[in-house]
Amino acid sequence: MAPQVIRTFSYHYRQKFGHGVGKIPLDLGQPCPNRLHGGCIFCRPAGFTPAYLHSRDEIAAQVDEGKASTLKGRFKKYFAYLQQETCTAVPVEMLLPILRSLLADADCVGLILSTRPDFVAGELLVPLAELVTKSAKECLFELGLQSVHERSLTLLNRNHSFADFQNAVLRIQEAGCFQLGAHLIFGIPGESREDMLFSLKMVCEMGVKHLKLHHLQVMRDTVLANLHKEGKVSLFTREGYLDFLLSALQVIPDEVVIHRLWATAHPEFLLAPKWNCLAGTLSVLLQKQMVEQGIWQGQLVDMAGRK
Ligand code: SF4
Repeated sequence: MAPQVIRTFSYHYRQKFGHGVGKIPLDLGQPCPNRLHGGCIFCRPAGFTPAYLHSRDEIAAQVDEGKASTLKGRFKKYFAYLQQETCTAVPVEMLLPILRSLLADADCVGLILSTRPDFVAGELLVPLAELVTKSAKECLFELGLQSVHERSLTLLNRNHSFADFQNAVLRIQEAGCFQLGAHLIFGIPGESREDMLFSLKMVCEMGVKHLKLHHLQVMRDTVLANLHKEGKVSLFTREGYLDFLLSALQVIPDEVVIHRLWATAHPEFLLAPKWNCLAGTLSVLLQKQMVEQGIWQGQLVDMAGRK
């Protein structure tokens, strides 16, 4: 068997629980507050939405559907993944009972809350910490950041700053019972390879232990699509991105869990880049190159630590 060169989500939780764990994406039906400000230039809501997911369905029905469609008998245990839009924009008095009911399912090992750094309210953190501690399950805050560089956040129309991210990280860490994750996008126009690696190192140094990494994809009907049409966006080739990941993975500490290494927008909405390659194939190609070149996740961190 090939050596484990990346701490993938599946590897990490198989080690931790002794069995595989899936994720069931859920939609609370709350539009992201940033849409009132035009939304992020790359974001098209339907592009991230699993086909079976309809926010009008009751959450319990979504969980049942997710067990049938996503877990498909491969996994019994799962994380409830509040992935759509900005889940913590839902008022706390409505959100908490939903989270409580999700944690009450014996097969649910925890929550993953995907949100913006400027929507991590203290009024949520305090009662949620109590709920999570009582349940003895996990709760991961997955903060969308995309880049630590202010010019990139402005270009993407994120409408939050890196300081907002730092502030959210501190408050999540202070609660003491939450896991901390970040989303980053690689290939933002104007960012060099060094800029991207700097973002990665910064978030790792801040104590982020879960990463969701994407290459920039252009989807139909977005502001980014217009920029791309005007020739203002240069995108990663498949080979170029794999080469970048060979460098990026070396600066990510070994204990950091990698949830994702590339974006997988629905082909119906994806304009570019079209690599015509399944995620599983990318994973095999990347790990093969790592093994051949003697590269592993955290390699440069380990070496720095030994000096
Ligand atoms: S914050 Fe997230 S959901 Fe909201 S517009 Fe940006 S990418 Fe889309």
